[in-house]
Amino acid sequence: MNIHEYQAKALLRQYGAPVSDGRVVLKAEEAKTAAGELDGPLWVVKAQIHAGGRGKGQFKESDAGEKGGVRLAKSVEEAAAEAKKMLGRTLVTHQTGPVGKVVNRIYIEDGSGIERELYLALLVDRQSSRISFVCSTEGGMDIEDVAAKTPEKILSFAVDPATGYQAFHGRRIAFAFGLEGKQVKECVSLMGILYKAFVEKDMEMLEINPLIVTDEGILKVLDAKVGFDGNAIYRHADIAALRDETEEDAKELAASKFDLNYIALDGEIGCMVNGAGLAMATMDIIKLYGAEPANFLDVGGGATKEKVTEAFKIITSDPNVKGILVNIFGGIMRCDIIAEGVVAAVKEVGLQVPLVVRLEGTNVEKGKEIINTSGLNVIAADNLSDAAQKIVKAVKG
Ligand code: GDP
Ligand code: MN
Repeated sequence: MNIHEYQAKALLRQYGAPVSDGRVVLKAEEAKTAAGELDGPLWVVKAQIHAGGRGKGQFKESDAGEKGGVRLAKSVEEAAAEAKKMLGRTLVTHQTGPVGKVVNRIYIEDGSGIERELYLALLVDRQSSRISFVCSTEGGMDIEDVAAKTPEKILSFAVDPATGYQAFHGRRIAFAFGLEGKQVKECVSLMGILYKAFVEKDMEMLEINPLIVTDEGILKVLDAKVGFDGNAIYRHADIAALRDETEEDAKELAASKFDLNYIALDGEIGCMVNGAGLAMATMDIIKLYGAEPANFLDVGGGATKEKVTEAFKIITSDPNVKGILVNIFGGIMRCDIIAEGVVAAVKEVGLQVPLVVRLEGTNVEKGKEIINTSGLNVIAADNLSDAAQKIVKAVKG
């Protein structure tokens, strides 16, 4: 689960991290009051969306030369005007994809004078099964670019959970950043704060890009991107309350309400499969025969007819879907349940695209009979390879 920058900063402030004062604004009328509560003489007006690259992003239908989603203002009036210009519009960044994201919230912050921009992240390193620090002197840049072009400018190391965070970790980072004097102390303290927040709140990722040295020589968190482990959210009511459902993919949101394991992708073939491994194999084989999957979906072992119906509805709600492949290997999941769900869903929402069904395993004969007597225009398939070829052919001709 992801949260907005202003929420992440409020959380880090609670832990004692140095962040600027700021106000969130939901309506244009609130912008002037909000900006007026900050000291100035510089204000930063920031679009709040769950995607990075806002500064270099562009609004849809923007004039040539219009600034992106992070704007500097020199007065309260100017800050309010910039906030008004951004609210309700669609911001496209390299992380949003071409559709972009609608800006429903603006964060107005006390502007900082910047001397240096640094990069810092904490993440769960799956290879070492430990929390790792990633840092670089190249702040404000895309870390992927830095990693590709100048990997020597990135320092990364894991923290042993038996000792936890120690001052020497912080000094190692301070040295990599080229910090001196009291900044080293600030860095050691800040890294400890971030590590503590990361562990206590079950974060998956915490990225501060940039972490800055201000013109007054102090360290400050200028941007913050936080992701939490979805499986641990139940332990954190305060974090769960920060969820902004308008930022989530509508199909994934619907799927999560029915406890379906669904991930939206951008291909043309909708997939309904039972079992994560079979779902991945199905996506692979669709690609092998020259098409792209529109989603990952594992309906699970104990799915009911209602759940299958919902899953089918979510798949057909995707306008990119030009064909559907149902691939079920009935073990715990019975083929007749799947068949009933598919038939019920089609009766409810109709079927505008070709549908290939491959059933195998428990109650396969019963399942096939339900499909065959339903009057639906279904293309039957005998095995995975046959099914994939048939759906690709039906979609691509
Ligand atoms: P992102 O583009 O989504 O990563 O948004 P950031 O919060 O990282 O802001 C982008 C850039 O705007 C930063 O790298 C800074 O160069 C600039 N910026 C953000 N806040 C301030 C500020 O308080 N003062 C100044 N001078 N620049 C800022
Ligand atoms: Mn940033």
